[in-house]
Amino acid sequence: MKKIVDKVLEKYPAKTFKTRKKHIIVKDDSYEIPQIEANTRTIPGIITNRGCCYAGCKGVVVGPIKDMVHIVHGPIGCSYYAWGTRRNKAKAEDGEDNFIQYCFSTDMQESDIVFGGEKKLRQAIKEAMDLFNPKAISISATCPVGLIGDDINAVAAEAEKEYGIQVLAFNCEGYKGVSQSAGHHIANNNFIKNVIGKGERKYDKKWNINLLGEYNIGGDTWEIERILKKIGYNVVATLTGDGSIENIRNAHKANLNLVQCHRSINYIAEMIETKYGIPWVKVNFIGIDATIQTLRDMAKIYDDPELTKRTEEVIAEEVAAIEGELVYLKQRLEGKTAFLYVGGSRSHHYQNLLATFGVETVLSGYEFAHRDDYEGRDVIPTIKPDADSKNIEELKVEKDEENYRIILSEERYEKLKKDVPSLGNYAGLIKESKNNNIIIDDLNHYETETFIKVLKPDMFFSGIKDKYAVQKMGVMSKQLHSYDYSGPYAGFKGAVIFAKDVLAGVYTPGWRYVTPPWKTEPLIEGTIEKEGAAC
Ligand code: SF4
Repeated sequence: MKKIVDKVLEKYPAKTFKTRKKHIIVKDDSYEIPQIEANTRTIPGIITNRGCCYAGCKGVVVGPIKDMVHIVHGPIGCSYYAWGTRRNKAKAEDGEDNFIQYCFSTDMQESDIVFGGEKKLRQAIKEAMDLFNPKAISISATCPVGLIGDDINAVAAEAEKEYGIQVLAFNCEGYKGVSQSAGHHIANNNFIKNVIGKGERKYDKKWNINLLGEYNIGGDTWEIERILKKIGYNVVATLTGDGSIENIRNAHKANLNLVQCHRSINYIAEMIETKYGIPWVKVNFIGIDATIQTLRDMAKIYDDPELTKRTEEVIAEEVAAIEGELVYLKQRLEGKTAFLYVGGSRSHHYQNLLATFGVETVLSGYEFAHRDDYEGRDVIPTIKPDADSKNIEELKVEKDEENYRIILSEERYEKLKKDVPSLGNYAGLIKESKNNNIIIDDLNHYETETFIKVLKPDMFFSGIKDKYAVQKMGVMSKQLHSYDYSGPYAGFKGAVIFAKDVLAGVYTPGWRYVTPPWKTEPLIEGTIEKEGAAC
């Protein structure tokens, strides 16, 4: 595999070769996890799949909160292209609002760039109040806002006073950081500073949890909640799929945080632990084995015989309901190979799900993950911030004396960590990848095409930008951001829906017609007669 990687890289000019080489590793059988370069600036002109800071902040973390009006301050493009394209589903709670289907923009024009856009932003907030009367508003900055110096924080503070609702300003201009990742961090900081801990609800159930970094794509959160509620858990808040501002304000009332997408939400998980004493555990609800492992880990943390019993009963019921289908699906998919290239967590999560059906992942990578998502959190102290990450605030939180609770004593925490290694930790993608697998950070278009030509995978999981380029090469490509408008893929039922979708894609009769018959079969048939005879 190393030779294959070198062959792909040798086409680059020397400087590009040197940079890209550090972003590609081949897993080998040594016990050492190899170091990968990640979360650094994209090489200009290389056709990356990455997005911007605004996409990570408003598009991923803030946008799914259903009962807020999310105003995008900027020219119309940033808003329009993000309108309804991320399938974070939401339904209104009893008597509450749901604004998910709307797209709110200040639609900045030339005069706003020249004279400033604050006036227009104030007007947009007023219109949102008059028309929708929401209980909270967010303002997300786009590229020009930071450059012309609009003070969205001052406008937000003014609006809070005037309308008596919470108005959150996010300074998530697209050029900050190197990818969506900076936007996640900015959103996390704002929630900790201004939202979490402000609620006063009381919860009488024993097993109160928050689901962090789960965005309800295609209904995933609902499927996870269905399983958790069946066992007896009470979901206090989800951040932020199908999330509501009031639930998030009360997130400090839970006694365990489940972290599904480590990249986008680990900051909040860590800061909640420091401020309120709530432990977090890395979970994975994608794949049968991973879901079972997660549910058992949770039961171990609570260490309540009633919960443990209920957990096993639910696992048995859920597995029994899909067992027959799993056998059939595995028979059809076993032995196939896959590439996985998704944002910051799915390339790891889906390896487990694919393995359930006997599909091996031979190449995987992330758009915007950091070294800890690849190599595990142990490497965090060795990560040196560069100029691009230094301009994102590293928030330092302190113990909230009033609301801090000791949920797990130090002694019990240490003991539990041996049994539940994912308690307060994430081991990363590389550890669970198979030997000889290629792992690539910020995969670009040239590398995608070349690795497909060499390794000939049966399926490629990625996003909308590369889907059709890959399918034109005759390889089934399935979107793991939008699920190709299907889902849910999480939990037990989701695993079956996923495998059925993959099966339909791989066995679609169209693949037989990619190569026209005249390229593989003779056009005319004839025989050569002996001398003197007619042809
Ligand atoms: S890079 Fe700037 S202009 Fe482009 S979507 Fe992001 S915020 Fe908008």
